[in-house]
Amino acid sequence: MDVNVPTLELNEIGKVKESAHGIVKAEGLPSCLYGQLVEFEAGLKGIVLEFNPDEVSIVVLGDYRKIKVGSSLTSKKELITIPVGDKFVGRIVDCLGQPIDGKGEIPSFNSRLVFSQAPGVMDREPIYSPLLTGIKILDMVIPIGKGQRELIIGDRQTGRTSIALDTIINQKDKDVVCIYCFIGGTFSDFEKTIHKLKEKDMFSSSIAVCAFASNSSAEQFICPYTAACLGEHFMHKGKDVLVVFDDLTKHAWAYRQISLLLKRSPGREAYPADVFYIHSQLMERAGKLKSELGGGTMSFLPIVETLQGDITGYIPSNLVSMTDGQIYLNTTLFHEGFKPAIDIGLSVSRIGDRVQPPVLRKLNRGLRLDYLQYREILRLIKLKTGLSPEAQEIIKRGQVLEDLFIQDNYNPLSLVEEVALFYAFRKKILEVLTPDVLSRFKLEIVEFLNFNCPDVVTNIIEANDLSDEMAAELDKALVTYFRSTRR
Ligand code: ATP
Ligand code: MG
Repeated sequence: MDVNVPTLELNEIGKVKESAHGIVKAEGLPSCLYGQLVEFEAGLKGIVLEFNPDEVSIVVLGDYRKIKVGSSLTSKKELITIPVGDKFVGRIVDCLGQPIDGKGEIPSFNSRLVFSQAPGVMDREPIYSPLLTGIKILDMVIPIGKGQRELIIGDRQTGRTSIALDTIINQKDKDVVCIYCFIGGTFSDFEKTIHKLKEKDMFSSSIAVCAFASNSSAEQFICPYTAACLGEHFMHKGKDVLVVFDDLTKHAWAYRQISLLLKRSPGREAYPADVFYIHSQLMERAGKLKSELGGGTMSFLPIVETLQGDITGYIPSNLVSMTDGQIYLNTTLFHEGFKPAIDIGLSVSRIGDRVQPPVLRKLNRGLRLDYLQYREILRLIKLKTGLSPEAQEIIKRGQVLEDLFIQDNYNPLSLVEEVALFYAFRKKILEVLTPDVLSRFKLEIVEFLNFNCPDVVTNIIEANDLSDEMAAELDKALVTYFRSTRR
């Protein structure tokens, strides 16, 4: 006869000595570990952040007011983990991976360490496949690859969230698991984002992880690690994952608050000395695994806030140095109507055009320079009379390029649309058009190509390149388009 012998679980039981502002001092946990999960009598959870021989400091996840001095707490000899699984897709969870969307339990058979180590160098591979954003400036001038970390940096209300959302929306039907991690904002902002994702039919392939401003600092602190954890589950299964952190400034604030309450000595801007470490530990978890490990990728789009455009602030400059590039959003450009307000001069992708689809790489030569020269000439002259013919030509081309770069939010473009527009620009067709014809061309060209010459479109998509024959076909299609509009 089989006898079921229950496995022996060793828990330590301690006692709360002090509880204030979300920090609990406890005694009686002699063998605790840094980052260990403890459970309070009141049903709340906490993480061990500091200890000495007679006292342990624990940060509480949840409403700390429920914890009474003298109550007990238990600790298991394991670090904090969260449940992970495929069924998380299409759900909204809190910082501990528990559903908060009212759709019931999420079945999960695995769990992962929240503060797990990033894959080592030998487990990784160089990044080469593109992660198309559908935003013309980014895909053409600042391409992003699968596995890359690209920082979105800018003042408040400059369209930072919109860029990240457009990128998520553009992953529709592309088999990329998107994770939106919302930290420290208001419920209404979060709801707007989720509403947009649902409207664009992207929510069913995304996961939202959130800790609002009303949640405790500890919950806000572990939220991005939880999002990374959920992403790692899919990455280790060989899938492509995109994680957006909206935003890490609030995450740094939460950590600063915890550290000050723990009476750690404050450093620059009152942040603790290890604030660089907590962000770099997170950023390192992105990347591409080698093919023996499934070849999965995890790309990060962290968002950070600047004050008055100052990118030399402590947290922004830290993040600039630990990501593979930044998309810098400029308030002045935003108010001038150049949206998305990406400052091409200050934005960069350190991985470069290696991650650009070959078809776009052929069309992007000189675009950045053309545009920057145009902005420079505009700055130098106020009156556009008496200019040399070369300068006039640069201005004319620059104006068309500026017009091409302007794009509404939540409206990512397909690859074919980008190819058609920038091919026409390269052929110098667009400068001679009047503004109405140009805006009609931008709206109609893809529909025209799809309807009149679908094989040109399929050829470009399948080959992902622009051979001479394809270019000739595209030329023919453009001639037919302009003939038809003249009539
Ligand atoms: P916050 O500081 O509130 O987080 P943010 O920097 O994330 O702001 P968004 O919320 O993305 O910025 O955008 C701010 C406003 O600008 C929104 O009303 C949005 O609709 C608008 N906006 C953003 N991008 C564009 C665009 N490309 N075209 C037109 N409007 C845009
Ligand atoms: Mg935002």
